[in-house]
Amino acid sequence: MREIETLIIGGGIAGLSLAARIAPHTHTLVLEAESAPGYHASGRSVAIAHFGLGERVVRTLTAMSLAQLAAEPVDDHAPSAIRHPALHIARADQTAELDALEDVHRQFDCDFYRVQGEDARKLFPALKTGPDFCHEAIIDHGALKLDADAMLQGHVRDLRTAGGDMLTGARVEDIQRNAGRWIVQSTSGTFRAERIVNAAGAWADEIAALAATSGIGIEPRRRTVISISGPEHVDVSPWPFTKTVGSGYYILPEGTGRLLASAMDEHPSLPCDAAPEEIDIATIAHRIEEATTLPIRRIAHSWAGLRSFARDELPVIGYAAGQPDFFWFAGQGGYGFQTSPALARIAESLMFGREWPDELTRSKIHPAQFAPERFRSRT
Ligand SMILES: Cc1cc2nc3c(=O)[nH]c(=O)nc-3n(C[C@H](O)[C@H](O)[C@H](O)COP(=O)(O)OP(=O)(O)OC[C@H]3O[C@@H](n4cnc5c(N)ncnc54)[C@H](O)[C@@H]3O)c2cc1C
Repeated sequence: MREIETLIIGGGIAGLSLAARIAPHTHTLVLEAESAPGYHASGRSVAIAHFGLGERVVRTLTAMSLAQLAAEPVDDHAPSAIRHPALHIARADQTAELDALEDVHRQFDCDFYRVQGEDARKLFPALKTGPDFCHEAIIDHGALKLDADAMLQGHVRDLRTAGGDMLTGARVEDIQRNAGRWIVQSTSGTFRAERIVNAAGAWADEIAALAATSGIGIEPRRRTVISISGPEHVDVSPWPFTKTVGSGYYILPEGTGRLLASAMDEHPSLPCDAAPEEIDIATIAHRIEEATTLPIRRIAHSWAGLRSFARDELPVIGYAAGQPDFFWFAGQGGYGFQTSPALARIAESLMFGREWPDELTRSKIHPAQFAPERFRSRT
């Protein structure tokens, strides 16, 4: 039986970003059920960092993370992020929502401009403009296109450099408490750990149940993305990530000739290997055809992934009440990549009793807002 100090269950962006951060001061092992890291939500993200989602806490976490996400890569590794503008578009009846989003961009000192529909179309030439389509917009030049794979691989590298490890094909099947330690049985062996970290994404409540710990009520929600052709002979790569304020759609370039689009759907789901449904693909195609001049003749590929939310849509970070050394790191919703540096820092601070980040204190964001106990009376 291998002895570990900190055993992290789940090799997505949550588990790996935390593992890389804490491995220099605790012997860390990540167990991932699938044959490669990032097989589930983390491998299905469109991985953009922007201020157009979440509320105050999520936006503060995003702001805290941007500099680290944009940092130059060390050695000759691929960069984890490149600047790529985000265009937030509004109909004429959505001016109040755009005003609110403008306040957010101002609050976080973003490099942004408010533009009329016609100017937005110069940036994304397939947009329809007018009161019922793109009437006005905000263009944020500080948004980032993240390289999800480079981020995951970079964290695995940092974890191993610090003496830790990740095992793939290691599905956790049983967790017992014995003599003050966790005994964790997986399909790749049995481990004795001082503490376990539940970073199992959509499966987080299932891991809690294995450890006889109260669940949180994490809700996985399925989101579908399609890939379509851009206009013939047009390089779409400089086109911004374009998103409606409120519900609607988003669309962004994929390389030079293709575009990815989503209707920003959120269908409650059981934890599973999510697959797109015909109705969701048709909904995206319909919304894009309505809002743009892009004819959708063929859908090159499509996929779906699960975004996992706690009831208040904030992450769950901290030790389980009444269960020593069971640490929650779940509920990263639709912002797990863009907030990962801040979330890993928060988790480290709560796990080892380190100082709470100043930026959060200044923004009046406290550990209780992430604590698993906040759901205790309701579970
Ligand atoms: C379509 C889509 C678009 C998105 N776009 C963005 C975006 O633009 N920006 C952004 O920041 N975020 C985005 N997200 C959200 C982001 O992808 C998630 O917040 C993030 O990936 C969650 O990471 P995670 O590590 O918690 O979960 P996961 O990546 O699902 O990792 C959990 C891991 O736990 C493993 N596991 C489960 N059970 C066990 C077990 N018993 N034993 C061992 N391992 C186990 C699973 O195999 C899985 O690999 C998007 C998500 C989707 C689906």
